[in-house]
Amino acid sequence: MIRIKEINDSLLQFVFPHVCDGCGSDLLNVESRLCLHCLDAMPETNFEKHAGNPVEKMFWGRLSLVSAAATFYFTKESLMQKLMHQFKYKNNKDLGLQLGRLMGIALKNSNRFETSDALVPLPLFPSKEKKRGYNQATVLCEGIAEILLLPILKDVITRPQHTETQTKKGRIERWKNIEGKFELVKKEAINNKHILLIDDVVTTGATLEACGSELLNAGNTRLSIATLCQASR
Ligand SMILES: [Zn+2]
Repeated sequence: MIRIKEINDSLLQFVFPHVCDGCGSDLLNVESRLCLHCLDAMPETNFEKHAGNPVEKMFWGRLSLVSAAATFYFTKESLMQKLMHQFKYKNNKDLGLQLGRLMGIALKNSNRFETSDALVPLPLFPSKEKKRGYNQATVLCEGIAEILLLPILKDVITRPQHTETQTKKGRIERWKNIEGKFELVKKEAINNKHILLIDDVVTTGATLEACGSELLNAGNTRLSIATLCQASR
């Protein structure tokens, strides 16, 4: 006998079709965004649990960190690339939220991030955020916060837009100058706190280094970094 709930579920599926963001197969739980097969295929790094993991090593001698990790590997033509594309360029915020939850679970399974007091998303340039409609790092923070139950500090650090004097410089120098510029605007909000800085991808670590060192300028602040993926150069 078919139960009423099953009829309801299939009706819902008919009216609001929900499919896996990874492979397109039918999903019963729309919140999860991913089917069990795709979840199982996610390229986890397990870096969270290991001191001296490749992301931490990347920052040695550059930034004083408590812990650092990337939850997944990013490779081209992969499931992860497909998901990142949907999250960053196809307005799929719900997927970003779920990826953030997966980060939160990985961080919670390690005791190396448990002293964190608050999440700080790496800011985007205001023009870029306006165009995309959201900052992907903030969306990840929202998913992580559901698991770690930490506050999100959105406005403590900003990323100033291009300035007049920079237009006179060479292209590469100008890029470096703008890319690495952050401004701590609410020093008191992170004073005496252990901040967990969040971004979507770490490649060379240059942007995270610039943002992180500005956060450490607050004084008496401790810093950790977590990203959704690590990409090779
Ligand atoms: Zn799938």
